[in-house]
Amino acid sequence: MRRKLVAGNWKMNGNLAANSALLNELVAAVGHGAPCDIAVCVPAPYLAQCQQQLVNSAVAWGGQDLSSHGAGAYTGEVSATMLADFGSQYAVVGHSERRAMHGESNVLVAQKTVCALRAGLIPIICVGETLAEREAGQTTDVVGDQLKAVLDLLEPADLTRIVVAYEPVWAIGTGKTATPAMAQEVHATLRALLAAHDPVAAAGTRIVYGGSMKPDNARELMAMPDIDGGLIGGAALKSVDFLAIIAASSAASNAASSAQ
Ligand code: PEP
Repeated sequence: MRRKLVAGNWKMNGNLAANSALLNELVAAVGHGAPCDIAVCVPAPYLAQCQQQLVNSAVAWGGQDLSSHGAGAYTGEVSATMLADFGSQYAVVGHSERRAMHGESNVLVAQKTVCALRAGLIPIICVGETLAEREAGQTTDVVGDQLKAVLDLLEPADLTRIVVAYEPVWAIGTGKTATPAMAQEVHATLRALLAAHDPVAAAGTRIVYGGSMKPDNARELMAMPDIDGGLIGGAALKSVDFLAIIAASSAASNAASSAQ
């Protein structure tokens, strides 16, 4: 069984005082062992704070984007090795906000994925369709093209070192969530694409769901066979909500293992 991952995407939120309180609350509740992998993906200036407060805890941390370049004259960019220098284990790549607001193409997202892997980071690769694309029946083509661009640059062995996040754009920050069945259908499609690349490795790739995941819908989403956790935006900013989603994830894992 794949170990679930619950990752927070703080987006451009936070300040030193609020982060400190949130991180302390997470560490106090989670301690040193957790029933799932847990991470917070934070604005780059707060990576040092995460390193200080989360070291030796069960909560990992990471960035929300990275450059597709190694180093050089790229003003404002942050490289994969810089994220790794601050102890990051994860990096979100290809979030729909970056695709939409910064024009990130499928190829660029694929290049960023490779940079993350080379630096030893686990890329959380976001894919997802807009409402118009879903209504036009294009969901499979859209997420398929997004994932295939990444797979074209990866070795089969990389499949166990990536996380794919299915994030329907229409569900992000809107309070509208894909039903468990809708999400499972897309996750199964993504798993089939991964399996076409390498059937054995694909069985180990984590595919998480993101899009208005909350304490009251997390458990039924994560109970689906191909949903291996969540990428959480708004609900990751309140420890009580984020911790409830972590608890929902372990409840879903426990139910799955006792059913086996
Ligand atoms: C996200 O931004 O990745 C996300 C899933 O946001 P929210 O949970 O707020 O919909």
